[in-house]
Parts: sequence; structure tokens; C-alpha cells
Amino acid sequence: MTVGAALLLYAAILGALGPLAHRRDGWLTRAPRLGATLLLAAAWSVLTALFLAGLTVALPGTALSSGLSDLLGACILRLRAAYVTPGGAAVAGAGLMLSGAIAARVGWACIRVVRARRAERRRQRSLVALCGRPTSTLDAVILDQPQPAAYCLAGREKTVVLTSGALTLLTRPQLAAVLAHEQAHLGARHHRLLAAAALAGRALPELPLMRHLPDQVRRLVEMHADELAACTQDPETLATALVALATARSGLPSAPTAALAAADSDTAVRIRRLLLPPATLTPRRRRTIRAAVAAFALIPVLVALTPAAVAANQPPVKQRQAVTAVRQRSATARAIGLTAGKRPNAADAWLPVAAIANRTASP
Ligand SMILES: [Zn+2]
Repeated sequence: MTVGAALLLYAAILGALGPLAHRRDGWLTRAPRLGATLLLAAAWSVLTALFLAGLTVALPGTALSSGLSDLLGACILRLRAAYVTPGGAAVAGAGLMLSGAIAARVGWACIRVVRARRAERRRQRSLVALCGRPTSTLDAVILDQPQPAAYCLAGREKTVVLTSGALTLLTRPQLAAVLAHEQAHLGARHHRLLAAAALAGRALPELPLMRHLPDQVRRLVEMHADELAACTQDPETLATALVALATARSGLPSAPTAALAAADSDTAVRIRRLLLPPATLTPRRRRTIRAAVAAFALIPVLVALTPAAVAANQPPVKQRQAVTAVRQRSATARAIGLTAGKRPNAADAWLPVAAIANRTASP
């Protein structure tokens, strides 16, 4: 199997198996931050694998091979033989198109996500600057709105926003619990995880893993914020605050996407989790998940670069071998009917490389 095919197979399996992890997510919710990191690592591993698959397929037939050869100090013939792919120039072109498409989609998704989030944050900040009033008793800005809401705005000026409706609805301990939840979002920089999930989800929504990723990560970071808030506040008080907010907000539009509202995501599951906390993961299971995160980060790069590293450690193809390869090419050209002066097609150009690959592969 070629390197490119191995990477494509890896990306296809991971991208298709993602929903299984979503369905059997008991262990994900037992360590929500780690679970969110694992899902993101898997998603970005798929994108990296697809990008590198295209490059490795294109490598033997393009200038990429000479660039990599110079970079690694490897013999270019050995390098091309290590990545040789059946199909010649047509497959090399398809590989370049795949890598270009993945890079373009990620770039485009990055622009869209960053723009949308900045615009929304700017809108919210203007609203807070124009209509918000700070309080001396709460670490939050109050907006005079009858609808109860609590959310935070990440960025350089981290702000927790409470509406006057929430102040009326919630008791003092409930307000403290909700504020602790929002501060937990800001402290743990959950907005970065959400942005990474939105980016991957927008870049390749065709894959099931990516399609559900933003919702899954949002759900897990809400649970993580609940967990952190429950360390300093009474979990039952936070649960009753979530019930009150969710009940009062039913039928109302949800908070802005860039903000992290206190009761907009999976409230029933979160309340149950606060009242009946699940058993924490064993250290062994945590180590396994961390190892899986590292594996997702490394596998595509290792699979793509190992043949190049092997080629760099082999001696260059001897001149005699190169001459033999040229002679074999001439003989093959005669055998397939190419006449003098006729330009060979791209597939024919690979015959000497394949010949060298066969020779070097044999003991
Ligand atoms: Zn929240």
C-alpha cells in the first residue's frame, strides 16, 4: 500500500467512526475537557492526513521531491522510489488537487469563522459599552433587558454579562454560581476550543465526525464549566439556577454564538450531572486518552515522513544503477513502440523509477 493510500484510509475510517464516539460518550462526559480535546485532535488529524495524503501522492511526479531531497539530503531517486504511486502524472495531479482543496477549505473556513466571531463580539461589546452598567457588588456588567440571560465575552477584555431579568430571577447564591460558571469559561479559554471545532466543522462538513463536532465540543465545555464552578459553589444551587434560566428562556432566542450562555446547551443533562456527578475517570484511563490525543497528532506526520527519513538514511543510488535505469527506460520505450523524437507520456517517465524501486526493494 502506498503512503498516500494509507493516509486516505486512516482519514476515511476516523472520519466515519466519529459518530460512534459521540453515541458512546459516557466516558467523554466523565472528563469533558479531555473529551473535547480528544474530539478536536481526531478532527484535525483527519484534515492533516488528507492534506499530507495529497502531497505524498504528488511527491514523485512534481518538484516537491527535489525540494524534500534538498531539505533532507536524501537521494532523489530513493525518495521518489519510496513514494512511488501507480498512476503516474494523473494521480500526482489528483494528489495536488486534494491537498490544495483541503488547504483552501481550511483557509476559507478560518476567514469565515474569525470574521463572524469578531463581528458578533464587536456587536456585543458595542451593546455593553452603550447600554451596560457595571455593579460594585458583582463582577459583571448589567444590561437592562427583561429576558433573563448570563453569558461571557472572551478576548482581550473579558466580560461577564448579566441582564436585569437574570438579576430579578435569580437569588444571590444562584447569581454567584452562574458567575462562577461564566468565569470558568473565560479562565479555561473555552472560546478557543469552540473556534477550533467550528473551523474543522466548516472545513469538511461532509464527514460525520466534523458535522457533529461544534455541538459536541460546546456541550463538553459547558459541562467542564459546570465542573469548575461546582468546585467553589454549591452544585445544587448552580443546578437550580440553570433550571430557572432555562425555564424563563424557553422560547427565547439563544445567546450569541461567540458568547457562552449559562443555560443554552443540554440543560437537562447538565442538571442531572450536577446533582448526580459521574465517577471520575481513573488515572489509567486518562493516560490512555492523552496517549490517543498524542497519537492523533503524530500519526499523519509519522506515516507521511517515515519513508523520507528511511530514504535519507540510505546511500544514494549508484551511477551504474542510474545508467542501467536509463538503459531500461530506453529498452522499455522501444518495447512499447515509442519512436525517436516522439515525446513519452507522463506514465512512461516513471518506468525507470519503478525499476530502481524494484531493484532496491529486492534483497
Ligand atoms: Zn456556559
